[in-house]
Amino acid sequence: MHRFKTWWIALTALTVFVAFCIGLSVLKRPVTFASLDVVDDSSQAGSSLQETQEMTLLATGDIMYHSTQILKTNGSYDFEDNFKYVSSYIQNADLAVANFESTTTTAYPYSGYPQFNTPKEAVASIKNAGFDVVSTVNNHSLDTGKAGLLGTLQAFQEAGVSTVGTMSSRGDGIVWKEVNGITIAFLAYSYGFNGLLERLDEDERWMVNALDEVKIEADIRLTKKQGADFTVVFAHWGQEYRTEPTIDQEELAHKMVNWGANVVLGSHPHVIERSEMIKVEDEQRYIIYSLGNFISDQRLESVNDINTERGVMVELTLRKTGSVNTVSAVTLIPTWVYKYSCPGRYCYQVLPALAAAEGSLDLNLSESLLKRIRSAYTETVKRIKGTS
Ligand SMILES: [Zn+2]
Repeated sequence: MHRFKTWWIALTALTVFVAFCIGLSVLKRPVTFASLDVVDDSSQAGSSLQETQEMTLLATGDIMYHSTQILKTNGSYDFEDNFKYVSSYIQNADLAVANFESTTTTAYPYSGYPQFNTPKEAVASIKNAGFDVVSTVNNHSLDTGKAGLLGTLQAFQEAGVSTVGTMSSRGDGIVWKEVNGITIAFLAYSYGFNGLLERLDEDERWMVNALDEVKIEADIRLTKKQGADFTVVFAHWGQEYRTEPTIDQEELAHKMVNWGANVVLGSHPHVIERSEMIKVEDEQRYIIYSLGNFISDQRLESVNDINTERGVMVELTLRKTGSVNTVSAVTLIPTWVYKYSCPGRYCYQVLPALAAAEGSLDLNLSESLLKRIRSAYTETVKRIKGTS
């Protein structure tokens, strides 16, 4: 009996210790999981005889510029501090992608909501942060008409950032990248254009990719035919401020995966929605229904929705083994937008939430802000894993 009791106490202590360690590890680093609900199965794919190549793809959500973000300091625009604290994560990935939800052209005055037009200096800061590809197709693509659509493409081209979803010349619109012997094709579509499609002549409407199922299926199949190992689809869809995907989002995401998409990156709701890992034969394919806002003026104080100030960088490991292309790991790096007054304007900085909450950034954040950032971190992880 005594012996049994000792064992029981030891076992209980061990259980508590393990639970404590798991708890600690959850709070410790960016959250990593090999898959959501599927085990790493590369061994089953006959990989032992085949070479394996890997690369990382970091994806984040909406990059937006409201009117309070485009104020001048000493007569000039400065966006360089926006991504100061996250650029190391962005640059560390082999490829980094985001949704640019604005336009840039000197043909119209600069403006925040409702018809966005952002100074070109913002594009330089996106480039300097480390982004390689941006989706330029969303409901704001035509906010400054054809001039803005073309100005945006030109600004990114000059900065050396690829764009997908809007086009200045007719073609299939597929953007190709090759990293570590892995070929990736990018596609992007938007559910609509805020009623501004008539700003393009009828014979110019190929300049924007609409969320048209027939076209999406044809495009995804074309990427596979042309040799894509991984096809990544940006989808601008869903309902604003809704923390759960709609049935339409779920159905279309699953169709896209079945047509051959390996990664589906959702945006538009301005809040984060959950993710899913889908198993298709020997491959894991990843969907995130909404990546939320990466940078914007939306936050608790401005729109009374705390979810709008929370974002995430999702880092996917893409692994190619023979003809099997799988998303072998997912790392979540939740972010939070810090807004504060600085000379002549407001400063905005995207912070990696965990590092900020731990006080490891050189910022003097109040106890209440630290608490707010800590809950941004835990709530974001729960939301994406579908456990909240
Ligand atoms: Zn949108």
